Amino acid sequence: AKLAGRDAIRFFDPQMQAEVSRRAELDAGLWQALERQQFVLHYQPQILADGRVVAVEALVRWCHPERGMISPAEFIPLAEENGVIVPLGRWVLESACVQLAHWASDSARAELAIAVNVSARQFRHEHFVDELIEILGRTGAPPSRLEIELTESALLDDVESVVAKMDAMKAMGVRFSLDDFGTGYSSLAYLKRLPLDRLKIDKGFVCDILVDPNDAVIARMIIVLAENLGLQVLAEGVETEAQREFLVQQGCNAYQGYLFSRPLPVAELEAYFDRQQQV
Ligand code: C2E
Ligand code: CA
Ligand code: CA
Ligand code: CA
Repeated sequence: AKLAGRDAIRFFDPQMQAEVSRRAELDAGLWQALERQQFVLHYQPQILADGRVVAVEALVRWCHPERGMISPAEFIPLAEENGVIVPLGRWVLESACVQLAHWASDSARAELAIAVNVSARQFRHEHFVDELIEILGRTGAPPSRLEIELTESALLDDVESVVAKMDAMKAMGVRFSLDDFGTGYSSLAYLKRLPLDRLKIDKGFVCDILVDPNDAVIARMIIVLAENLGLQVLAEGVETEAQREFLVQQGCNAYQGYLFSRPLPVAELEAYFDRQQQV
């Protein structure tokens, strides 16, 4: 058996091996990256049907000293697995709240809200609500300008405890979006019991909305569902004017995507926002 094992390694393809070792290196480097403050938030505008920008989504990036800018699509799954997501997620919340407090004291940008992604593991952490309250208090960020984006996996827990947690935050004015909607498996009956404010249509449905009739039907169904549940609905990953028009016709309320802007460093986001205000 030992021989077979050693032989098996010879079949390992070198590219796959490089990927495995990159993963292992990033995995091991995450804690240190947090200590060395190598993470940064970029902000992507969210656009209402009338064209106004009233919120941005905070998206984390890792500025790696040797490997350059690393996408969260690569390191967030590792951080969720090894637990770094809890302190990293806390850092993201805190940084977003510092930014919110800063904008709130600036009359030209006081209306801007920030949506923050919160992982299932972070949301389920027993101190999550207390820490959020502490962060809001310490930074002075207005809770009504904070939106939390959760995925269905965060909510697949005992419904009473999920609702209690969300209600405690809602009482302060925090809002909730359900991210990547349509990719999970939660039942509609379950959804109805949650105090959500908004559904986000996953970009996977938006990208082929004009060419794949199934995606168009799913997007339309999510919009109708949101309407019936009294929720807002935002389409992410909107890249073309034709996609936006189709979604407008279906009754979508808000949009996000490269058609409007990529996620931007804070100074560029502020310049983008100020330009929009002058139009
Ligand atoms: P997400 O929350 O679904 O965020 C949307 C992703 O789509 C972002 O990728 C964004 O840059 C990208 N995107 C925006 N517009 C377009 C478009 O028009 N076309 C296409 N193709 N893509 C677009 P990003 O920044 O790489 O983030 C990937 C994922 O990493 C996020 O997906 C989210 O699940 C996770 N993530 C990012 N930041 C955080 C964070 O602070 N905490 C947690 N827990 N997860 C995060
Ligand atoms: Ca999101
Ligand atoms: Ca998504
Ligand atoms: Ca996602």
